[in-house]
Amino acid sequence: MGTYRCEPCGKNFGGTTDLARHMRCGIHVPIVKKPKAVYYCEHCQYTTNGSRDIKLHLKTAKHSKNTRKAMLVEIRNYTPS
Ligand SMILES: [Zn+2]
Ligand SMILES: [Zn+2]
Repeated sequence: MGTYRCEPCGKNFGGTTDLARHMRCGIHVPIVKKPKAVYYCEHCQYTTNGSRDIKLHLKTAKHSKNTRKAMLVEIRNYTPS
């Protein structure tokens, strides 16, 4: 079992949980934070960060099968400004 290295500060950790805890401690949050995917429904101007949420949203009655397909294209191409 190897060690897990935190590249920004050069610290070594014995396990992924230790490293993960270190990465969450605050000093690294701006560095390691990846931009979250944003899911967007053009039909209702609904936005969410959760892929589960948008799937549930697209299953609601106001979206027909065709609308759902169109919305998914929009989601893939959506770039937050
Ligand atoms: Zn670190
Ligand atoms: Zn919608």
